Amino acid sequence: MLIRPADLPGQLRFTQAVQNAFQHQRIPHSLLILGKEDGLLQAAAIWVAQAILCGKTSEPPCGECSSCQKFQNLTHPDLHFVFPAAATATTEDFRQNIRDLSEKPFEPVDVPETADILISSVREVNKLVSRSAFEGDRQVFIFLGAERFRKEAANAFLKTLEEPPAGTYFILCSTDTGSMLQTILSRCQKLNLDPIQPEDIRKFLEKQGFSAEKSIAWSVMCQGQLGVALRFAGTESIDYYQALHPYLNSLMKGDLPGIYEQYQIWEKSGKDEILAYLQAMTFFLQDCLRVKAGSPDKLTRQDLSGRFGSLYADYGRLDLSAGLKVLDDSMYKLQRNVHAGLTLLNLAIQFRKLVRGLGK
Ligand SMILES: [Zn+2]
Repeated sequence: MLIRPADLPGQLRFTQAVQNAFQHQRIPHSLLILGKEDGLLQAAAIWVAQAILCGKTSEPPCGECSSCQKFQNLTHPDLHFVFPAAATATTEDFRQNIRDLSEKPFEPVDVPETADILISSVREVNKLVSRSAFEGDRQVFIFLGAERFRKEAANAFLKTLEEPPAGTYFILCSTDTGSMLQTILSRCQKLNLDPIQPEDIRKFLEKQGFSAEKSIAWSVMCQGQLGVALRFAGTESIDYYQALHPYLNSLMKGDLPGIYEQYQIWEKSGKDEILAYLQAMTFFLQDCLRVKAGSPDKLTRQDLSGRFGSLYADYGRLDLSAGLKVLDDSMYKLQRNVHAGLTLLNLAIQFRKLVRGLGK
């Protein structure tokens, strides 16, 4: 899909800053976009790349020229991506990443947790930089996960990053400057994305074709994470918090028949549905933790406070941090297709150990 400024939820400040740079012909050759979420970063980087390569000089990207049209499937010959990857990654893996990106630019590309930006990828970039662009006189390189540069790969890249030939543009994306190498960080001009407000997420979801009801529910529950909202708005249920109440109660009481009953309901709806519940449960426990720490998050509070107050009282007996770890582990297993029944059974057993008064 083509990305337009209005498609980037809540990013007016960012899009105006970029457009301003274009107007004054001050497009940085090395731009680092910082944000909280990989999905939004990806989409923002693609939009900037589209503007750089667009044939129109005033207020790019026009969305209509032949260059812009090639962004439809991200097949522009002068647009290149660098993904963090496992050392064993193949060309086909990278192609798949680009296909995923072009189909769902707002959903974070699936890269292994331990993946780095490989030195082989950097060498490929250096090679492309040293020859001229295929079509126009510009070429753009988008680096996702720029915090995953390891020293070796960074060293191979520094000279290119510092003195790119005319017409070469680097767009680096990162959610974590704390882990970024100083050598890379100091050579880039930085632009921040803004945190997204629930209202912007609601409008975004509605524009993607989700019902008003779902859009409202998920804009609040996703806690500012666009990727989470998008992923779970596609599942069946709407009010996960309400639906979770009986299940959490069963967990708290160690009531195995109750847990099993809920599992039978979830089993019919598939893995994504179960993941959505576990994600909602994670948010709920995180909310409990925040309230416990005396810093309720006003974004989620607005709509959930009524329900939340009474729920929290019940869960004071649970070791919340340990509970969150169990949930995280269960979601990790489900995503890697470990049997759902076993995963949920294990979750119930683990939770039983974490509730004060239930015993070991
Ligand atoms: Zn254009």
